Amino acid sequence: MKSENSNIKVTFIIPSWHYWNDPIKHQPYWEMHYATHVKSAGYKVSIEDLRVSDKSSFENMTNEIEESDFYFYWIFKTGDAFEIYSIAKILKKRFPKSIHAAGGTHVDKEPYDSANNFDAIVKGPGEKAFLKIIEDSQESKLLKIYQSNYSEIPFSSTLIPEREFLPDNLIVNNKLFTGYADVPGTLTYFSRGCIYKCSYCTYNVPNSLQVRTPTQIKNEISYLKDRYSIKGLLVKDEVALNPNKKICSETLNAIQDSDVIWRGQTTTLATYDQLKHAADSNCLELAIGVETADEFVMKIIDKTWQDREQIFRFGENARKVGIKIKVCLILGLPGEPLDIVKKTIKLLEELQPNFASVSGFLPSPGSPIANDPKKFGIKKIDKNWQKYSHLLFRFADDEDVGLPFEYDTSSSSINNFSREKIVENIIEVQNWLKERGMVY
Ligand code: SF4
Repeated sequence: MKSENSNIKVTFIIPSWHYWNDPIKHQPYWEMHYATHVKSAGYKVSIEDLRVSDKSSFENMTNEIEESDFYFYWIFKTGDAFEIYSIAKILKKRFPKSIHAAGGTHVDKEPYDSANNFDAIVKGPGEKAFLKIIEDSQESKLLKIYQSNYSEIPFSSTLIPEREFLPDNLIVNNKLFTGYADVPGTLTYFSRGCIYKCSYCTYNVPNSLQVRTPTQIKNEISYLKDRYSIKGLLVKDEVALNPNKKICSETLNAIQDSDVIWRGQTTTLATYDQLKHAADSNCLELAIGVETADEFVMKIIDKTWQDREQIFRFGENARKVGIKIKVCLILGLPGEPLDIVKKTIKLLEELQPNFASVSGFLPSPGSPIANDPKKFGIKKIDKNWQKYSHLLFRFADDEDVGLPFEYDTSSSSINNFSREKIVENIIEVQNWLKERGMVY
């Protein structure tokens, strides 16, 4: 650590997360993760949280932000891209000497578009890249693209994110376990990435499962309990129950020893034994990506590793061990039959999950479907990132973002639904769920 580093100011920016009904409910894990790494090299690091800003204009959102030498951004979702580009532009105008750099899944998948909006971009993980950007900039040799590979930076080699960058009330809240009890909770990741390749998805970055060690898990939970008195954890991993039985068991033992309740998401491939162990470790609820009630669509989205039997077996096993399930569904996927709403409701009636959420299909940049839209019957994908959001109509009936694409509605198309029809389908299923108190 060089002592002169402490004179260099670095600010990470959290966007407003405009697509969430309550953006304060979840925590900006990745910004805190990378801020921790930059701070560990001796730099003066802070986080500006625009979730709590005046959102009437981008100027208003940014006018409280103080001058910094570097502004860093992590664009996890394309739905944040337009806002972050705009914020970077305004800050650059206010502070012309500042350097702006961004990484994240959106940047990985849309590097050229991103490179046009920042002084430098980070492809891959940012633990080393953000530091290199600072060093190179100090030596006047800043590059445009900084690429690292996840295989060189296992998650287990990275630091546990410090939460002190933000006020306590933005780290802990009682909303993550609504419906269970008054549980102070926060979120974390015990793994990053996913080994599957569902054709609509870009959350499988890296395309492997990098895990925290049991010691790291215990240390992190212990820190969160001692410092923030948390009693519950939302485990945000894409696959909380690792398909590798040994790793899964070690992770669950570490959580069990730490004595917190938790909920998370996983795949329907989890076995009875894994679910039993999860229940023993105080897992209250697991979300599963069922995605569609139609077998043909399941094939199209490259999720044939789960079928109806698998889904129902998971449901039955989860019920047996006392874990509640939340089913995640997507409407508007390529290949949907005309009676997709009827089929979806039938599946829900038979499976009887405790909760369900319905998203509108989003052809995320870099996903197999977005890379080859014609193959999936898509005539046009709108690249106006302002229209990107996948939580369409989950919180209000008048949302105007989402479904930024159009199918070719000619009879030979793989999906004949117009945007209006997809909207109608989503609202119909949403209403069905709302009437039964199955959404939260
Ligand atoms: S949808 Fe889930 S299981 Fe499929 S690739 Fe994405 S993260 Fe993995």
